[in-house]
Parts: sequence; C-alpha cells; structure tokens
Amino acid sequence: MGAHVLIFPLPLQGPINCMLKLAELLCLHQIKVTFIITQHIHRRLLHSSHAQPHSTKYGDSFRFNPIPDGLPHDHPRTVFEFSELMTSLGAAAPPILHQMLISTDDHSPTCVVADGLLTFATDIAAQARVPLLYFDTISPSAIWTYMCLPKLIQAGDLPFKDDNQDEYIRNAPELEGIMRHRDLPSFCRGAIDFTDPQVDLVLKQVHHMPLSQGLIFNTFQRLDAPVLAQIRNLCPNIYAIGPLHALLLKNRTSCYINSTSIYQEDRSCISWLDNQPARSVLYVSIGSLCVMTKENFFEVLHGTVNSGSRFLWVRRPGSVAGLDPVEIPNELSRATEERGCTVSWAPQQEVLAHPAVGGFLTHSGWNSTLESLVAGIPMICWPHYVDQQVNSRFVGEVWKVGLDMKDSCDRVVVEKMVREVMEVRKDEFLERAKEMSEAAEASVGEGGSSAADLDRLIDDIKNMKLSTEHK
Ligand code: UDP
Repeated sequence: MGAHVLIFPLPLQGPINCMLKLAELLCLHQIKVTFIITQHIHRRLLHSSHAQPHSTKYGDSFRFNPIPDGLPHDHPRTVFEFSELMTSLGAAAPPILHQMLISTDDHSPTCVVADGLLTFATDIAAQARVPLLYFDTISPSAIWTYMCLPKLIQAGDLPFKDDNQDEYIRNAPELEGIMRHRDLPSFCRGAIDFTDPQVDLVLKQVHHMPLSQGLIFNTFQRLDAPVLAQIRNLCPNIYAIGPLHALLLKNRTSCYINSTSIYQEDRSCISWLDNQPARSVLYVSIGSLCVMTKENFFEVLHGTVNSGSRFLWVRRPGSVAGLDPVEIPNELSRATEERGCTVSWAPQQEVLAHPAVGGFLTHSGWNSTLESLVAGIPMICWPHYVDQQVNSRFVGEVWKVGLDMKDSCDRVVVEKMVREVMEVRKDEFLERAKEMSEAAEASVGEGGSSAADLDRLIDDIKNMKLSTEHK
C-alpha cells in the first residue's frame, strides 16, 4: 500500500486554494489524498468551478470527503461569523477525524495535513499515532508575529501602554525595526482582549504548532529566510514549498486550469484586458472575504478614477456593505465605462499574468500577495485583518515591491499611490517586482529551495508510511 494523506483545510477560499494545490502535487507523486471539506464549501466548489476533475483526473488517488460544519443550512457563513464557524466546526469535526484516523481498512491514513487553526487535530492524531503536519496558509511573517505575542505579553509590552501606532515593537527578533504597532494584526493593536475568540484561536495555534511533526508554509527561502529561521528555533521541521501555484505549474504536464474557485469566474475581463495597452491597467480586488464600507468604496473608486489609470475591479457580491449601484455618481459610472471593467469574480492568476496589468490594489491576503509576486506586479496594499497588516508592511518596507496604504482610505491618498505605482515610480517598482518574480521562479525550478523542500516532504510522507507499517 502506498502512502495516504488526509488533508483538512479551513473552509475558506484562500486555504482551499493552497491545500488543493498541495493535494494535486502529492497525487502527482503517487500519494493518495483524502480531502476533508465542509459540505457547504464542497457544494460551492462543484457549482462554480472545475473541481470535479481533481477526482476524475487522479482516479482513485484523490477524493473529497465532505463533512458537516455543524451550522444550519441557511447560515450566511460570512467573515463576520468566522468565530461561530470555528466553534461549530470544532465540535462537529473531531469525532469524524478520529474515526478516519483509527480506520484499519486499506485506506487507513499515514499522515494528516491540517490547517494550523484546527488545533483539535493535535490530540486526535497523537491518540491515533498518526503523524501530523500543520499547514499555515497565511504568511510566515504573520505566523512569526503570532509566535512572538506570548513573549510580548510576558514582557509587559502588550497591551501597549499608549496608542502611538507608529512606535516600533520590541522583544521580537527579525521584526524589530520593521514592525510598528500599526503593522500588527488588528486584534492586538489596541487594548488586546483576552476573551476575544480570535485571540484565543491564535494563542492556541501558537501553542499547538510545535507539537506537530512539521510545518508547511506557502513561501520560498529568498522571500522569508529570516523569519523561517526564527520559526525553526521552535519548530525545527519546516517545509517551505511556495509559491505553490508556481510549483504546481512546474510539476504539471498539462496546461493550467484554475479549479479551486468557490465563486463563478467571469472571463470577459480577459478579452477586455486583451484590448488594453501593456502595463496600463490597475487590478483592484479585496479577495474572497473582506467587506468594505460604502464610504471606503467611494474613496477608492474616486481615487482610482482621478488617477487617470485604466482599471479592472472585482466587485464580489457583498464586498461593499449596503451598496446600491444606482448610488454610483454618473461621472464615476462614465469613467468606469470608458477605461474600466467590473466583474464579480476574476480568474486572478491569469489576470495578474496578463501583459496589460501593471499594478494591483490588494487587501494583502497571502495568496494574492504571492500571486502578485510571481507575476512581477507591484502592489498598493490596503490591508483589513488577520495577516494582511503584516504582509502589507513587508511588501512596502522589506521586499519593496509596492506601497502600504494601511489605515488610510482617502481619495487623495489613493490617487497619489496609484500614480506613483502606475506612472511616477513605475519602472522602479516593475524592476524590483521582476527580481522577486525571478527569485520565486528559481525557487520552484530545478535545484530551487521550494522544489527541494517538496521532494523532502514527499520522501518524509512515504517514509512515515514505512515507519507506521513497522510499528
Ligand atoms: N481570487 C480569484 N478571483 C478573484 C479574487 C480572488 O481567483 O476575483 C482568488 C485569488 O487568486 C486568491 C484567493 O482568491 O488565490 C484569495 O486569497 P487571499 O489569501 O488573497 O485572500 P482571502 O480571500 O483569503 O482574504
């Protein structure tokens, strides 16, 4: 019997994207995968994408295992109910995972790969004596920030004594001199509330990560070497196998298909891009979860229009709270018709790889950040929560592939930043982004660090099989 991995992502678009790519890489290396997915997300995947080919393309090697998340069918499951979802999943999933791990049939799993927030997996895997790897699909710099929080709390730095958001943090190696208070995840920038379920989740995650047999990250050495070195002090076995979408492209023989979207893609934007001049379009998207206020929407739209740039805007249903399109002033609608394109969901990787795109106004989700880095597209970062405040700081200050608009959403600032990235400092940013893109490509190519870490991960998983057989 070959090795068999249970993959258990968070039921959200970003983690699903990453984990499906990992699943495909494992299948390509003759490792069988069972992909645990909530019934809700499974239905959406099948409805809106080509996810089915995963199960047919890899025959018996890949199967979805849909499970209930414990919430009522008509529950909205938006980002605002995330804690509720986690509590409910935390009650519904453990018995199912336990059953799957103790199964003694031909399909008995040899290893579990779970999202770092699914901390219940630690005890269940240990009881079943099945090795566990945590895959944190957010950025390693944010994970390292999380790992520093207990020390900051112990040192009395956190909660911060004053609200000077521009003060640099201390007691956090590799983050000192980079991160200011405002660059920390939103839940610890003010008075940290230890009863906040989000804080509890993060602190639990930090405690559980070193209890696993290893950590998987969607990053590459050149990008994150200093923080990876710090994390290694606490969790020595790290696999940095990113950017996963680029690594998968190198391993696949067939051409690219985007089979991981839980929203229906509108490909009309690709033909629109085909008719735009090279590097002239700003791509605007805030990912699969963020919601902006109506006021902020108008500030960003005014700023973008006033910059004179062409733009492709993803207006995901529900991404602007309470917006009625008739409220959009005529001059903005006219400008959008003349030099803009709006879709409800775009084939993002393809958009970023299109020669007409020259900049990305992003919420700084980790997948979007990596996709932009691989495509060599400079970013204007407008972070909202989780790892996004950290990512946007690294984009602006450390990797220098864009500007961080954090904590301001004003049409004048937006206009200025769009002009900087699309005109004034265009060549400088494009040059820097190209260097990053080449580094990312090198990491997934032959002899690259991510390719080597993937080989090691595959060997380790196959050897885990051997070691459990010999137990
Ligand atoms: N995405 C997409 N089309 C869109 C917007 C986003 O395919 O119109 C994808 C994007 O390529 C990325 C994911 O959705 O892989 C968003 O993940 P990210 O980590 O950037 O942000 P999140 O949605 O988790 O906040």
